[in-house]
Amino acid sequence: MHTVLITGGAGFIGSNFIPFILEKQKDLSVVNLDLLTYAGNLENLKEVEGNSNYTFVRGDICDRKLVESLFKQYHFTSVIHFAAESHVDNSINNPDSFIKTNVFGTFNLLDVAKNHWMDSANNYKNDFINARFHHISTDEVYGSLGETGCFTEKTSYAPNSPYSASKASSDFLVRSYFHTYGLNVVTTNCSNNYGPKQHDEKLIPTIIRKALSGENIPIYGDGKNVRDWLYVIDHCKGIELVFKNGKAGETYNIGGKNEYNNLYIANKICSVLDEIIPKNNSYNNQITFVKDRLGHDFRYAIDATKIEKELGWQADENFDEGIKKTINWYIKKYN
Ligand code: NAD
Repeated sequence: MHTVLITGGAGFIGSNFIPFILEKQKDLSVVNLDLLTYAGNLENLKEVEGNSNYTFVRGDICDRKLVESLFKQYHFTSVIHFAAESHVDNSINNPDSFIKTNVFGTFNLLDVAKNHWMDSANNYKNDFINARFHHISTDEVYGSLGETGCFTEKTSYAPNSPYSASKASSDFLVRSYFHTYGLNVVTTNCSNNYGPKQHDEKLIPTIIRKALSGENIPIYGDGKNVRDWLYVIDHCKGIELVFKNGKAGETYNIGGKNEYNNLYIANKICSVLDEIIPKNNSYNNQITFVKDRLGHDFRYAIDATKIEKELGWQADENFDEGIKKTINWYIKKYN
């Protein structure tokens, strides 16, 4: 039995990943370390609460003593690091916690893992020969694209928000622990995820919630900003593949080839709602444009050729089906 430390497992992607990985890998046990900030929700992990391979610990990844004591107690043979402050708008208004959690927290985990697993640089202890640190990151580290082109793993970093700058910093720390100490690390940079269990503050849950409550559906600027949307379970599949078969020191981009602008997303959700919960007027009459986000990146798009070719990953969910599943999940939540 291997024990993996998963950080931030009560958040959106982590709470999709934990049930997924426990189902796929029966020889794995999971310790979920999560501070339960406003973004963490244990309700999303009800399905694994009684699983003997699952343990929850409430705590801060920045707390060195706590992280060290967990490594001593559970002898983790790997870390999958999701924990982060993740909302760009919050990073504009209150960047401090982003630097603390995303930069310092990642450093803290890396350093404790290195000390626990290694005797010295490039020299793993016998019990931890294959121990691996998997860092979960974002395509936002690459900055903003124009109308054409895609981010590859070779694209230069050009983060534009305090959020993406903090994630870029954490990616560089991960890279440095590979090059300096020989720590077995992999990083995945994923595009925008959608699906069940996402926090209310994010775009898709907000559109669905406001539509159902009859309120205005707020869209930044002219709604033309483009994101590449990936169903969260397809992201989980990519993470599992890289975790198992990715090459140490490498980064892998994960993306859905579903490029849509925010206005398209809002109209799409409204048209699905028009079908399943019809009312007198179409929901899209509620769409309103609001003052744009500061420094709003125009477009992100991922070239996922590397993970597809080298590891055989592909996105299974198409957007039309994925968004319907997602809308149905939030209808149950909000009604
Ligand atoms: P989220 O905000 O939903 O969840 C973050 C989780 O981390 C929460 O449960 C929170 O309580 C926990 N947390 C925050 N600070 C902590 C701390 N100091 N110590 C311990 N736990 C702490 O985020 P998410 O959308 O699930 O994203 C997970 C990871 O994936 C992040 O690293 C994010 O940068 C990355 N990512 C997200 C997306 C996306 O579309 N959501 C896309 C690409 C990459």
